[in-house]
Amino acid sequence: MAHKTKKKIFNSTTKFLFLVVTIFLSIFAIKINLMSQNFEKLREKMVSEQLMTRDITSKVVLDAMLTVPRHLFVPEDIQDFAYIDRPLPIGLEQTISQPYIVAFMTQSLDPLPGMKILEIGTGSGYQAAILAQIGCEVYTIEIFDELVKNAKKVLSKLKYNNVKVKCGNGYIGWQEYAPFDAIIVTAAPDKIPEKLIEQLKDGGKMIIPVGNQNSVQSLKLLTKKDNEITEKDLLSVLFVPMLE
Ligand code: SAH
Repeated sequence: MAHKTKKKIFNSTTKFLFLVVTIFLSIFAIKINLMSQNFEKLREKMVSEQLMTRDITSKVVLDAMLTVPRHLFVPEDIQDFAYIDRPLPIGLEQTISQPYIVAFMTQSLDPLPGMKILEIGTGSGYQAAILAQIGCEVYTIEIFDELVKNAKKVLSKLKYNNVKVKCGNGYIGWQEYAPFDAIIVTAAPDKIPEKLIEQLKDGGKMIIPVGNQNSVQSLKLLTKKDNEITEKDLLSVLFVPMLE
C-alpha cells in the first residue's frame, strides 16, 4: 500500500514537472517567434523606408535585403538596432555597413545568380550573405581571425554554402579563384590595389571606396574592358581603413 502511494506521488510529480517544462518551452518558443516576426517587420520597414525611398530599384537586391536576417550579424546586445539607418560596431573597431550602403554597392555590381564575386573585408559576413542570397558564388577575405570565425559561424548556421571565407590580406586578392566577375571592397585603401585589378575578369566591375580616413573617401565603380580601366565616382563615403 505504502509502495503504491509513493508511486502515485512520483507519477503526479513527474506529470507536474512535465507540465511546467512544456509550459516553459511553449512560452520560450512563442517569445522566439514574436521576436523573429518583430525583426521581419523591422526588415520590411528598412527596405521600404531606407532603400526604396532612395535609389535602390534592383528587385534581386531588395529581395535579398528583405530576406537576410541582419540582426544575426551584429553582437547580441545591439540586435534591436540592427535595422536602423546606420553602420554598427562589430568589435575590433570594425563596423557592419549601413543597410543603404550595402544595397547601393550590391546594386552597382548588377549581381546575377552564378556570378563569381570577391569581397575584401568580410567583417560580420552580412554583405557576403546578401550576395549569397542572390545566388552568387562568393569569396571573401578578412584580416582579423576573430571576425572570420564569427562570420563563418553565422553563414553556416544560415546555410549559405556558396560563400568561402578566409583570413588574409585583401591587398593580394585570392589568386586561386581568379578571375572574378566582380569585386567589392568594403574597407578603404589609399589607392586601388593593383592585384585586385589583375584578378578582375574582362568586362568585370569593381566597387571600392578610395581615400584615407582623414579626408573624404570616394566610392568608385571601375569597369575593365580590353585591359583598360574606366573609373566613375559614385558617392562620398566614410569606410574603415583597409589595413596594410
Ligand atoms: N563587409 C562587412 C563590413 C566590413 S568593415 C560587413 O558586411 O559586415 C571592413 C572590414 O575590412 C573589417 O572587418 C576589417 O577588419 C577588414 N579589413 C581591413 N583591412 C583589410 C585587409 N587588408 N584585408 C582584408 N580585410 C581587411
